[in-house]
Amino acid sequence: MNGICALCKKSAKLKDSHFMPKAVYRSISKGFPEHGQNIVWITGSDKSAAYTDKQAKKHLLCESCELKFSKNGEDKVIHFMARPNGFKLATKIKKFKKRSNIKDDTWYFPSSDEIAKSFMYFAISIAWRLSATDWSAFGIPETKNSIREESMSAFSDFLLGNTDLPTNTYLAVYVDNQIVDTPSMGFPTVKNHEGYQHIVFNIPGIKLSLLAGNNPGAGIREAFSPTNVYFVSSSLKTHPDYHFMVNFIKNESVAKGRLLKERRKNV
Ligand SMILES: [Zn+2]
Repeated sequence: MNGICALCKKSAKLKDSHFMPKAVYRSISKGFPEHGQNIVWITGSDKSAAYTDKQAKKHLLCESCELKFSKNGEDKVIHFMARPNGFKLATKIKKFKKRSNIKDDTWYFPSSDEIAKSFMYFAISIAWRLSATDWSAFGIPETKNSIREESMSAFSDFLLGNTDLPTNTYLAVYVDNQIVDTPSMGFPTVKNHEGYQHIVFNIPGIKLSLLAGNNPGAGIREAFSPTNVYFVSSSLKTHPDYHFMVNFIKNESVAKGRLLKERRKNV
């Protein structure tokens, strides 16, 4: 399919781009068959939820931009997430330099600029995909332009390689310090604040929490200094969303998944 690439704006043959990396779907469904048929996503601040094993894809990017996304983000980050054969980032974070304890969380400096940049690139590439187009056909409503123009423009410059890091953008990578027995993936949600937006999504064992905007306030600027990427060892199970998600998987999505399969058989 020919069209205009949503990132570089060149006329090109467009790839059928995934919203969330294919490798994440594959890892969850192959490694954790008990959850695997229902890749869960949670959407909206009203905690409305749905699940799907349908992979959200769209003709969005040219080959060169698609390649940037995999090379600079996905390829470097995916092997760190919780997988059936281990959770690399949970091991690695223990060797990072400790910064401080905040409540039950421990904040760490990234071990290198490269790892900080890879996680930033990955997080931004997912956030950008949310706001760059409409995903309502996949049950995710009102995504287009959900991220403010000033941030989207900083994101695009960074993704294209024009800047070293996106301006006014901060990332906390939460790494689960408990056993990841319910691996899941969640599409990003955006919470609006004056001066900045909070964009959160997760892949197995990891929650990526982005703050972006022209005026995040002194507290956030101070927390994200001297680096704008931190890794946080945290119990993701104590996060309120977690219980909601687990109950949802246990009580609803599994039952509905069975129903759906039976229905398909009957068609
Ligand atoms: Zn392009």
